[in-house]
Order: sequence, then C-alpha cells, then structure tokens
Amino acid sequence: MSSKHPVHANSSTTTASPEAGKTSNFLRQIIESDLAAGVYAHRRWAGSPGDAAHHAAGEIDPAKIRTRFPPEPNGYLHIGHAKSICINFGLARDYGGVCHLRFDDTNPEKEDTEYVNSIIDAVKWLGFDWNGEVDAPPYQASDYFDFMHRAALALIKAGHAYVDEQSAETMRSNRGDFGKPGIDSPFRSRTPAQNLARFHEMRQGQHADGAMVLRAKIDMASPNINLRDPAIYRIRRATHHNTGDTWCIYPMYTFAHPIEDALEQITHSICTLEFEDQRPFYDWLLDRLIESALLAAPAPRQYEFARLNLTYVITSKRKLAQLVNEKKVNGWDDPRMPTIVGLRRRGYTPASLQLFADRIGVTKSDSWIDYSTLEACLREDLERRAPRAMAVLNPLKLVLTNWDEVMGVGHLEPCTQPTLPHPPVNQETPVLRHFTLGKEVWIEREDFEEVPPKGYKRLYPGNKVRLKGGYVIECSGCTLDTQGNITEVQANIVPDTKSGTPGSESVKVKAAITWVGVANGVNAEVRLYDRLFLDAQPDAGGKDFIESLNPNSLKVITAIVEPSLANAKAGEQFQFERHGYFVADRSDHQTAKPVFNLAVGLKDSWVK
Ligand code: ATP
Ligand code: MG
Repeated sequence: MSSKHPVHANSSTTTASPEAGKTSNFLRQIIESDLAAGVYAHRRWAGSPGDAAHHAAGEIDPAKIRTRFPPEPNGYLHIGHAKSICINFGLARDYGGVCHLRFDDTNPEKEDTEYVNSIIDAVKWLGFDWNGEVDAPPYQASDYFDFMHRAALALIKAGHAYVDEQSAETMRSNRGDFGKPGIDSPFRSRTPAQNLARFHEMRQGQHADGAMVLRAKIDMASPNINLRDPAIYRIRRATHHNTGDTWCIYPMYTFAHPIEDALEQITHSICTLEFEDQRPFYDWLLDRLIESALLAAPAPRQYEFARLNLTYVITSKRKLAQLVNEKKVNGWDDPRMPTIVGLRRRGYTPASLQLFADRIGVTKSDSWIDYSTLEACLREDLERRAPRAMAVLNPLKLVLTNWDEVMGVGHLEPCTQPTLPHPPVNQETPVLRHFTLGKEVWIEREDFEEVPPKGYKRLYPGNKVRLKGGYVIECSGCTLDTQGNITEVQANIVPDTKSGTPGSESVKVKAAITWVGVANGVNAEVRLYDRLFLDAQPDAGGKDFIESLNPNSLKVITAIVEPSLANAKAGEQFQFERHGYFVADRSDHQTAKPVFNLAVGLKDSWVK
C-alpha cells in the first residue's frame, strides 16, 4: 500500500492524484499535503472512540487518515448522500485510512431505528465497510453524551460557558444581525461556580424545557453570528432511542458534532458548504477542549464541498417524505425516487453510482449536474455486463406463410445469440442464449409500415429484413380489421439465410429487427419509467414541486420477452436490444409472473 502514495510537498497543483484514473480535487490535495507533512503521523488510536487519556494509551494509529459519514437517522439516504459516502469512504480507501459510519443521533425527537437499518444497507450496498472491519457496529453519537456533559462542565469551569435564562425570543433579538453587534446577556457575567450550580439543576430536571440554555462565551460582537455565544445545551424532556430517560438535557448539533469527530480521531471532517460558517466555532470548541486536556491533539479539521444538485431531482428529505406521504410515488423505494433504495430498485448499480460520484468530482462552488450524467454512468456500467435479450414491447403478430412448406409443419428452429456482444477477455467460448423460431413471431408494431415513409428500412410489403439471429424474411402483406388497424403481418422466409450459417450473408438486407417466437415467448409486465418532474429545477426558488410532477412518469405495459428471461433473478439487469436497460423488479418479479423496470434507455431521449 505505502508505495501507492508517493506524495511530494510541492505536488499540490497536480491534476492527477497518485491513484490511477482518479482526478485530483482540493480534498485529495489537502490530504496529500497533510500526509507529506506528517500532520497526523503521531496520532494514537486506542481501538475505539474516546478522550485524550483513552487514546494516549493506544498505539500509533494504523489508519493514515480518518474520515466519517455521519447521517442523522431521520430518513432514507438519497443520491446526494451517495456522493458524500463515495467521497468519504473513497478518500479513506485511497489513502490508507478508515471511514467511520456514525449515526448522528443526538436529537432525541427525530430519530427512528427503521432508518438505521436502511442506512447500513445502503452503505454496504454501495460497496463500503466502515470503522476498520467488515460488519463492524456503526458508531452512535449518543454514546458520547457522557463525554459531552463532561466537556460542558470543563467549559464552564474555564469560564467559557454560562447558563442563560433570557427567553428564547430575547436571546434571538439580542443576537443582533450582520449590521448590528449582539447585546450581552445579563447572565453572561455569572461566575463559574454559579454556572456549575445552575447547569447541575438543569441536568437534575429542576427547570422546565426551554427555561434556560447553556451558551458558549465567545464574542457577542463577532462578525460571524455563529460565534455570538451559541447555545450548546438545552433542556428537553424526551425519551431517546439509545439512552432512554437518562438525560433531560441534550447537546446542540454544533456542539456535539466537533466532539464526535474528535473522540473518533477523525482527521478530515468533510461536510457540505452550508457548514462553512460553523467552522470557526468547530475550531474554537476543539481548541478549548484540547487546552483542558480532554481531547487529543491534533484536532480534526473541517472542509466543505458543494452539495449535489441534480436536475429533475429533489434531494430534501422533507420533500421526499411529502411525495411518499401524499402517495405521489409508491413508497421510498419507488423506482422514480432519488433515494438509494429507489435507485437500486430502478436498476442502478453500485459501480454506476461510484462512477457518477467520481465523474462529478468535488468542488467548492454550487452547480447543477444534469440528470443525463447520472443516466450515462448507468449505461456505461451496464453496456459492459448486462446480458442481452430480445423483448417485444408493442407486439404485432408476424406469420411466416411458407414456413410449413420450407421448414416442415410445426417445426421450431433452434437459434442462438451471444449473451454479451463483447464477452470478457478471459471467457473463451461465448455464453449463448437459446430460443426458437417458428411459423408465428412477435415483432414490434413500429417495425412494420404498410406504406413506408421515405427512408424506412424495416418491414413493408416487398422489403426484406433479417429477424435478428434467425432468417431473412420478405414481407408479402398484412391484414387489417374493420377499423383499419393492422392485426397481422405476413412474410416468407428466404431459405439458407440463417444467421451464422455459410452463405447466410448472400442476401443483403438493410435492417435486422428484434422479435420473439410466439411458441416460447414469455409474457412480462414492463414498467416504463420516466423522470418524476417536468421542471429541471422542481423546487428552486420556493416553487411547489408537486405542480411539476410528470403525469407520465410511469406507464405499465405487457411485453413478450425471450425465454432466457424466464430465469431472471430479482434485481438482475438486462439489455433489451434496441430498447434499453431493464431490471427484474426487486419486490414484484417472480418466475411465474415476471416484472421488469426500465432502468435507462439506450440513448438519452431527452436531448432536443
Ligand atoms: P437533508 O437536507 O436531505 O435532510 P441532511 O444533510 O440533513 O440531508 P444528513 O443525514 O445530516 O442529511 O447528512 C449526512 C451527510 O450527507 C452530511 O455530511 C451531508 O453533508 C451529506 N449530504 C446530504 N445531502 C447532500 C447532498 N445533496 N450532496 C452532498 N452531500 C450531502
Ligand atoms: Mg442534517
């Protein structure tokens, strides 16, 4: 591993990182220069999170860096989280580090254990292990409540925190704003002893919820409003899913988060840009706790990147919940949802999402990524490895009039096609799919025209085409019903033109069409999905995203698919030739009743 990371102190302007194929970015450059300078080389790790004394007794940390992914277990993860997961776990993997999965469950009201499992599944499915071993239990921020309380006491003793009894409203108005400095609270000059006594009463449940808060004592005139004595502990009588009723005071997020990072010896704490203004408090707090010898130095450092904005997609958990609750979609794993469970059910692969994360990169300025970028990544992954199959989505019956005469009554001709057009290099004999051609065949309705438009190369009376993997046929006519709808097409097979036999190319045709034999085609439900929204930025500028829901985001049809698909396993992807990539639905697909979802078309159909 070590030879994979040749880092030089002056390499911060390179564009390619030591990891082959990975484009450098500002986070990689920071890590590379930290490693070169040995910033974290003397850090110790005691095998589990803990305070300075705990880690001092440990070994030099074998992990060169530590990153973390810290979701709040209050919803399903979405494509934006996938970006964050790929960044954090990817950096740890590439630089000999460890990434922590930590549930940020310090808010007693919002967490739900249902989400915990779905988050664990999502990270695992994306291909990552956390906390340095396979199937390690994730860390939980609520396990650090004792330490956070100790940290609060230490701040109070050192004169860095005080209990404020102003009303929430007064506190808010005394905070000032960008143009106006804040006003000191009358409680700001209390002595540490008075504050300790008051904080103890808070802890003992002697005051009502909201009656007072513990605030850091920093600077009420700071140009950064986050440094104007932020609240760090509040009274809240709520039963916590992990700690039950042990506590009636809970730390505020901005206080808890840096401490969680420090206890876990995180080196690079990577978050989205909206936390940039919190960084001075993050640093202030950790400096104070290192000063009081509670936490080990060096402190973790926070770095911010631009969150993912994807066109035609919303990524707010609250708004996604609204879609589910108002039944605009069929649950969190609806294949139109940008949740990881939804993307997975739609047919997305871990490799395609990792490719997407690599391709969009990491930047410090907000931008919109086009939805087609995501789709292209899936296509790229599946093109290499999705087995091919023929499926007729809009069936029209074709009868081969001379079949009985040329091939024999009731004859079914065995045909084969390779499963993959470009088989893996180590595969010597190509894997084949088997199907049969008989007198009756299903073809796509779009592949026949009674009166062909100019340039049309497929089936029309008098024209020859190849049935892919079968014979060349020549169209002789069609049958119409009383309304003039085409109900059947007729053709004759041209003998000695079977694909793969000598001389089969002697009859030239301009098109090959896909088909499925009537004798062994399999009926399948096919769910044709399209974008959930018609507006590229459905919730920008406070717009009501419900109004731009695409009424045609799901169309269900019955298709006829080739027999090889009868053995499809739920979750398996295929390319339906000429149509796109489909996946056997994870929830509803059964051998006796196949269900396929459209994952992505072969081409970007939204390009104008
Ligand atoms: P939401 O705003 O949807 O509720 P969140 O930020 O509250 O999301 P958390 O569970 O707190 O969700 O997030 C876990 C991690 O995922 C955080 O580090 C956060 O920065 C990151 N994250 C969330 N949304 C995105 C996004 N759109 N792009 C990149 N990272 C994201
Ligand atoms: Mg959050």
